[in-house]
Amino acid sequence: MSYVDDVLARVQEKNASEPEFLQAAEEVLESLRPVIEANEEKYRREALLERLCEPDRQFKFRVPWVDDKGQVQVNTGYRVQFNNSIGPYKGGIRLHPSVNIGIIKFLGFEQIFKNSLTGLPIGGGKGGSDFDPKGKSDREVMAFCQSFMTELCKYIGADVDVPAGDIGTGAREIGYMFGQFKRIRGSYEGVLTGKGLSYGGSLARTEATGYGLVYITEELLKDHGTDLKGKTVVVSGAGNVAIYAIQKAQQLGAKVVTCSDSTGWIYDPEGIDVDLLKEVKEVKRARLTEYKAKRPSAEYHEGRGVWQIKCDVALPCATQNELLLDDAKQLVANGVTAVCEGANMPTTLDATKYLQDNGVLFICGKASNAGGVATSALEMSQNSERLSWTFEEVDAKLQGIMKNIYHNISEAAKRYGMEGNYVAGANIAGFEKVADAMLAQGIC
Ligand code: NDP
Repeated sequence: MSYVDDVLARVQEKNASEPEFLQAAEEVLESLRPVIEANEEKYRREALLERLCEPDRQFKFRVPWVDDKGQVQVNTGYRVQFNNSIGPYKGGIRLHPSVNIGIIKFLGFEQIFKNSLTGLPIGGGKGGSDFDPKGKSDREVMAFCQSFMTELCKYIGADVDVPAGDIGTGAREIGYMFGQFKRIRGSYEGVLTGKGLSYGGSLARTEATGYGLVYITEELLKDHGTDLKGKTVVVSGAGNVAIYAIQKAQQLGAKVVTCSDSTGWIYDPEGIDVDLLKEVKEVKRARLTEYKAKRPSAEYHEGRGVWQIKCDVALPCATQNELLLDDAKQLVANGVTAVCEGANMPTTLDATKYLQDNGVLFICGKASNAGGVATSALEMSQNSERLSWTFEEVDAKLQGIMKNIYHNISEAAKRYGMEGNYVAGANIAGFEKVADAMLAQGIC
């Protein structure tokens, strides 16, 4: 059996109850085949893939907190420190009822390659909890965050592990967690990113993932002789990534006609009104029905459905496995040219293959949404030098990073005879740097 098949079989056996992690491991290992085959004997002897697929360590802990009625609630917290070969662990904290160890492991695994692709010195990690911030008062969210950090603070630090935001964790949650870290550890350090601007946050971090997604999409299109100007774009999600992807795509002359949340979706043929969307989602934390109520041109539909809208470019920005094979077929039938992932693993493996087989330009999240973590690493740099850069400085660095990522993944795919396969290119380019570092550091 080939080394890749051997490891895949063992990973499947050991992690049978973690489908998302298996999906991510399969996607990465499959596309690394040519690289592994070229070094098969050495990598097998060094057990490189086994080490890559096993987290350095993972923590699971109880998070008790008191709700507004005086009732004690108990959630489960997780932190997976996956790989620190090229820098301190770095990855967000997801707060969502669906969170379990398999989801955190898949996200942490993806983060290793994504962080490597940024060209910055950051390793891979991820954390979260099954706590649902929706419908909770600010005091309840604070009680949860303080309890979560009371345990998490034992395992993190500016040179050890630097968590950030993700689904359900925005500026409010990061603020409460930072306050609790400071209180317990007595240390004012850049232990979290996504902080508020008055206490060490970076300008442009809020916008970075969405903007970065659009920068790489524009670079991809330019490399294929076109750009976003005048294109119709379909976006899913209505959170941090989606909002700023919509904003930047519109600034570059595209018309974005959809967005969605966990209960329904909007089709707005006149183009999404970003200010209204921000008001509904960032300020009121309300449903998209409120957007519809204030926007006569918009249609609101329950459930999922954005991929049925005809478009040139599709940007899935909500969550994992939200773009399925049937959606891919619909997009292709409607003439989509490019799909770039804002969320982590939003496209299923069969949908990805269908898009690629049908000539759609496809960039996977670990490359196309890396702008968020890249800017988090820029926040770490600013914290270390105790300086703040301007919005323009950070944005310019972000643009440079996204362009580099595009050309690196494109070149890596070409080098292994897979021109245009940006999934393989991203996995290969991300892997090479981590593998070199792991081999150089001995058996650890
Ligand atoms: P937010 O919590 O800000 O927004 C998530 C959006 O997706 C919301 O509109 C939410 O709906 C919707 N959503 C969440 N879960 C589901 C679900 N199960 N079904 C349908 N819709 C759902 O998160 P972000 O925008 O920060 O993150 C979105 C994606 O991008 C995630 O995959 C995340 O891992 C990834 N990502 C985020 C980065 C960042 O910097 N924020 C960086 C890199 C990747 P509702 O409003 O109803 O909750």
